[in-house]
Amino acid sequence: MTLFGMENAQILSRANNLLHTNKRSDTIRAYNDFKNLYLRSIMNNDKELKVNALLGIIKSGKKLHIDTSRYAYEYHQALRKLRKEQSKRTKKHSNNIEIASISYLKLAYINENEIVLDFNNHIKKAQIRHFTIFDDKKHSYKYVFDISHAVLNRSYKLKSPDIKRIRLAQYKQNTIRLVVETNKKIKLKYRRENDSLVVVTPLQKEENKNIEIISKYTIAPKRLDRNKTIVIDPGHGGKDPGAIGYRNYHEKDVVLQIGLKLKNILKSRGYKVYMTRQGDYFIKLSKRTQYANRRSADIFISIHANAVSKKQANDVYGIETYFLAKSRTQRAKNVAEKENSADLSDMDFYGKKSFLDTLSSHNIVASNKLAIDLQRGVLGVLTQKYKDVSDGGVREGPFWVLVGAQMPSVLVEVGFITNPKEASRLVNPRYQKSLATGLANGIERYFLNN
Ligand SMILES: [Zn+2]
Repeated sequence: MTLFGMENAQILSRANNLLHTNKRSDTIRAYNDFKNLYLRSIMNNDKELKVNALLGIIKSGKKLHIDTSRYAYEYHQALRKLRKEQSKRTKKHSNNIEIASISYLKLAYINENEIVLDFNNHIKKAQIRHFTIFDDKKHSYKYVFDISHAVLNRSYKLKSPDIKRIRLAQYKQNTIRLVVETNKKIKLKYRRENDSLVVVTPLQKEENKNIEIISKYTIAPKRLDRNKTIVIDPGHGGKDPGAIGYRNYHEKDVVLQIGLKLKNILKSRGYKVYMTRQGDYFIKLSKRTQYANRRSADIFISIHANAVSKKQANDVYGIETYFLAKSRTQRAKNVAEKENSADLSDMDFYGKKSFLDTLSSHNIVASNKLAIDLQRGVLGVLTQKYKDVSDGGVREGPFWVLVGAQMPSVLVEVGFITNPKEASRLVNPRYQKSLATGLANGIERYFLNN
């Protein structure tokens, strides 16, 4: 069992659960999870994961009104490939399991002498493989149930006084394994009942009937490692003002003020922090990531403010976080175009067409995670203190400033400097501090989990 496989299955299960809540923030989280899994499926050439991830992207994307037509095309292709492969396998094993239908374990519990696994759908006979491993010398008798095409979304600790040990785990990517271990041979039966698998152990004496159930999330407490280097990159500067918005506010000024506040907060928490610029001067895009690479930064955060035309200025506002990837949406392309235009010479430096091929998959996944944590961190702080804070979500885009970074790197659009309300907030030191605190919290969360 690989940890990686288990993680994928858990993320998939979580994302699918998030899809059912109908809360927009959950759908965004699900969408990001599916995107993440999609990248992993490509990295690991995991066709089954790819199909499930793409299906999730399409479902969640539809809810979010995101154009997923490209993914839909890819989904149908991936599904066809997977079916072909599985039909080859099916012929070998004469197993008739419907492809891409995964059973999610909703709940596991002990009811008297029964171990009950509740799934979200009907468990087919072909999904269950039962065998035993007996070791008479060690007095160890293991009754094993492998449930294929099934996924756990949390871990369970099941205890029954009559049974030495019950283990339930994600054994392989799509196989749950239940092991019932006893000191003596027992007659164990099982049955499928609606959406459940019920394993029945022999009835014990009356006095042994007090049943103890312990089930909890097993998340080991982690210690936060603050021995990290962060490079903050306030966008634009000098001759390049960035976007000019409401009341002639300049993007380059706002993002520098926020960047400096973020630096102070992170330093006070014990991190090593560098800034690509601390004043109002121009730096080439390529120099910014080179700077971060030279300092062996653990993460790179570019801070920007967004803008739209005067016509839309009153209607468009919100916070967005981008990570570097081949962008599929026109929206991301528009934002990227704006942020990239300051320094056209850099495009020759990297070779416009080939730069995306040099992206490392590892960095994309890590950057995606960082982007999600930053976005959550910022919204977590701002929504507590301010009304009408808009979550623009995590997006991917082809940003030159992130190209060449050898560490997870993201670009935060802290708001629309063209929107009167948001612009007034963005120049307000108190709002800037809240924003910076949110970013710092997001960074800490990222380091805690990675
Ligand atoms: Zn910018």
